[in-house]
Amino acid sequence: MSKGWHNSVALLATRHGKEAVIGPLLHQHLGICVEVVDIDTDQFGTFSRERPRPGDPITTLRLKIASAFQVKEAPLGLASEGSFGPHPQFPWLPWNQEWVMLQDRVEGLELVGWAGSSRTNFSHRRVTTLAEALAFARQVGFPEHGLIALDDPQQPQVIHKGIQDEKTLQAVFQELNADGQGVHLETDMRAMCNPSRMQVIAAAAENLVVRAQSHCPACGTPGYWRIRSLPGLPCGNCGAPTPLPRAWVYGCLRCSHTHQEPVEESWADPAQCVFCNP
Ligand SMILES: [Zn+2]
Ligand SMILES: [Zn+2]
Repeated sequence: MSKGWHNSVALLATRHGKEAVIGPLLHQHLGICVEVVDIDTDQFGTFSRERPRPGDPITTLRLKIASAFQVKEAPLGLASEGSFGPHPQFPWLPWNQEWVMLQDRVEGLELVGWAGSSRTNFSHRRVTTLAEALAFARQVGFPEHGLIALDDPQQPQVIHKGIQDEKTLQAVFQELNADGQGVHLETDMRAMCNPSRMQVIAAAAENLVVRAQSHCPACGTPGYWRIRSLPGLPCGNCGAPTPLPRAWVYGCLRCSHTHQEPVEESWADPAQCVFCNP
């Protein structure tokens, strides 16, 4: 059924250059022609605190696609959304998650690709000297990765975004540090200012392609994918079931067909076992 997407136009609401990675992947593998709709996606929240993000990523993705369809008509809509924070299992690692959603308005389908990576420069620091500012900048991959400078992270009056050269960084530091109180620096996570994030967006788009190419064995609908896991992978030491998944359940977006596939591992790490590692 996805051959029905060949040469179909998909609107992508972005001002952050995300089409550079999403467009070629979807065109090469699915034949979809991505068309950028210039919409101020900052209305759905920013990473630099001017606007809080409205809800969970899926809600935000739907809002972004809906805003593109208000501008023009197309059979398909696309949106991308990311989040940053500590890794859920290893909180000392930063964790970048990316979602890319494809909506087919004709078929009434919604597919979501996902990728997670700890290869992100997501970070911030209060600096009081120019030397500290330059040291932080080097540490986070400046100038390929952009910086944001604020006077006060809680209630910013002044925000400089997209700083990507040392001369600008020096000037912004002097301006914001005029009172000698220091400057709050953070990594600019907008896609066009952050090649590390762009790679994770590409991985999420690749995951979307894989899902789109997976068809329901019963009805042929694309997007046949994992809908839940079944816990109970046996402990490698004592054989008792652990909370880790032993199988994935795949399900169809349209009909009720499902099937199970065992995970690749046969045994769980005893550290995950309630008997061996109480
Ligand atoms: Zn055990
Ligand atoms: Zn089906």
